[in-house]
Amino acid sequence: MSEETFYVTTPIYYVNDVPHIGHVYTTVAADVIARYMRSLGKPVIFLTGTDEHGQKVEQAARERGLSPQEHCDEMVVRFQQLWRRFNISNDDFIRTTEDRHTAVVKHFLNELHSRGDIYRSTYDGWYCIPDERFWTEKDLAGGKCPDCGREVVQIEEANYFFRMSKYQDWLLSYIEDNPDFIRPDSRRNEMLGFLRRPLEDLCISRPKSRLHWGVEIPFDTDYVTYVWFDALINYVTAPGFTTNEDRFQSFWKNCTHLIGKDILTTHTIYWPTMLRGIDLAPPRRVFAHGWWTVEGRKMSKSIGNVVEPNLLLDEYGADSIRYFILREVPFGLDGDFSHAALVGRINSDLANDLGNLLQRSLGMLDRYRSGSVPASPGDGALGDLTRGLIDHAARTVDEVHGHMEQLAFDRALKSVWDFIGGANKYIDSAAPWTLLKEGKESKLDVVLYCLFETIRQVAVMICPFMPETGHRMFRQLGIADRKELHQISSLKPWGALPGGTRTFRGPALFPRIEHLPEIAMGVGEPADGEKGEGESMPEDEKNRTKARRQTDAHDDLITIEEFAKVQLVAGKVLEAEKVEKSKKLLRLLVDTGEERQLVAGIAEHYDPEDLVGKVIAVVVNLQPATLMGVESRGMLLAAEDKNGIHVLTFREDVEPGTRIK
Ligand SMILES: [Zn+2]
Repeated sequence: MSEETFYVTTPIYYVNDVPHIGHVYTTVAADVIARYMRSLGKPVIFLTGTDEHGQKVEQAARERGLSPQEHCDEMVVRFQQLWRRFNISNDDFIRTTEDRHTAVVKHFLNELHSRGDIYRSTYDGWYCIPDERFWTEKDLAGGKCPDCGREVVQIEEANYFFRMSKYQDWLLSYIEDNPDFIRPDSRRNEMLGFLRRPLEDLCISRPKSRLHWGVEIPFDTDYVTYVWFDALINYVTAPGFTTNEDRFQSFWKNCTHLIGKDILTTHTIYWPTMLRGIDLAPPRRVFAHGWWTVEGRKMSKSIGNVVEPNLLLDEYGADSIRYFILREVPFGLDGDFSHAALVGRINSDLANDLGNLLQRSLGMLDRYRSGSVPASPGDGALGDLTRGLIDHAARTVDEVHGHMEQLAFDRALKSVWDFIGGANKYIDSAAPWTLLKEGKESKLDVVLYCLFETIRQVAVMICPFMPETGHRMFRQLGIADRKELHQISSLKPWGALPGGTRTFRGPALFPRIEHLPEIAMGVGEPADGEKGEGESMPEDEKNRTKARRQTDAHDDLITIEEFAKVQLVAGKVLEAEKVEKSKKLLRLLVDTGEERQLVAGIAEHYDPEDLVGKVIAVVVNLQPATLMGVESRGMLLAAEDKNGIHVLTFREDVEPGTRIK
């Protein structure tokens, strides 16, 4: 179709990070748009990689007794393996410790230096060591780092600075003149607001006396480059800046950076001014997506609800997750990851709408035409109903294209699913079984052909989102080897599926999930040790287990003041019942001086009736959590041994709401 190129990037991920759902989100989104553009016939570069310099890497390596490079070489594998499991089709994987990259960073520095855009000066101000960032007095939030809230230290040292302030007016008018540069609009407005304050110059060096692990400043070897300055340059290194100018020029002008909204400033303020400094244009578009909460709560290591993508993959497979994260939330807004919502989507959208369409169609073709697709009908043979379906197909291809250009993945999928709904209705209205009974053989051929061309079109459109599913559908449609029929470019004009194609019935694309899997009970990392067998525990059990381990170890003593932070009260159980569709959870209504709903993972050990009337111990100042759609405002105390879970109760009748100390 078009000669125009397409270039998409993810941020390069910090090599020390444990890959989580946020990394998966950006990378899957980039993969989907890359696959879509390839399917249109465009030359594509899809780039991801890792950011491997900086103080924290140096420190982590030292703690492990490794060199920083050895440490990085080990850590990077976690990302690379995860991307393979998610069928990520990146064309390149860049690591900032590679020679090809450090050479370009040095080129940037030399260029800016020779043009007078880098100068040496003494920095006097505040510094956040973990973030490796300088802050001015007015940046500080209550005397702490405005980014991470940690302590800052005052330092005075000589460093190199990039004259970013010089480009403020240019950048402001660039953003104003190019409404598509920063997406979505809310982020664009945020940056326009940011630029209303004076822009300061950017400190781009760190003295080797504090940090070694970075790209050496070529004109002063006592310094290394600030990690952000180094990292951003990866985007021009990979397509060939300074090494393959033709390739670089043809891709750079069509570059889209996908990022999380937390790194907006570096990508839309630092980066375009750095590029401007050496006469390169900004990327075409920077799209900042939102953040994920998990089961209604912010992801955090201390809560233990950081979703481990490998466990999700084991449970649901790549395609279901890819579909869910892009369908559930408009790209650009925040979303909530919940197992119940994911399972709901699998059952209704994937198993029901899509899976049934394929299964019932293959079944009919087997019975009526021995699995062979009839010949493509001539125009004159089409009735209104079939014309309606064909129009719907053409409209869907256009809608999907428009949405994909805007990275509106959720809308693109909604368009495809409207079309799937249309196809299911078409079967009901055309009623092939009636045509068969009435002996209307040629009409039956028309309906069956159009149904299978419809399914092919659906498979082609979902293939960028769910590559495994797309290819399974191509196999069942009998066109696995006909690559030209897998491309978006084969959808118009209608009717590319050849008559006589032999289909193959296979297993259902997405078996229904009848129960929420065990993984949904204990969101996050598996508890290592004692529980074993990969079994996950309900959140409250898990916290208890952690607490017990800590006491056993005696390495984590707390003061009486710290203990007093936990508000424990006696509560009388008023009602108890099983949480629907859950093996483990009970919902309790407890009088703790007020009526309070708790969810506890004890259903396998207690009959609900046995608990009613009991007085139990409840933590009442725990952050609320939602388990299987039921809110829990607190946690009961229990002990777990080899015989099961034992809820802590009082021998005497204690007034509900009495504080336990
Ligand atoms: Zn900080």
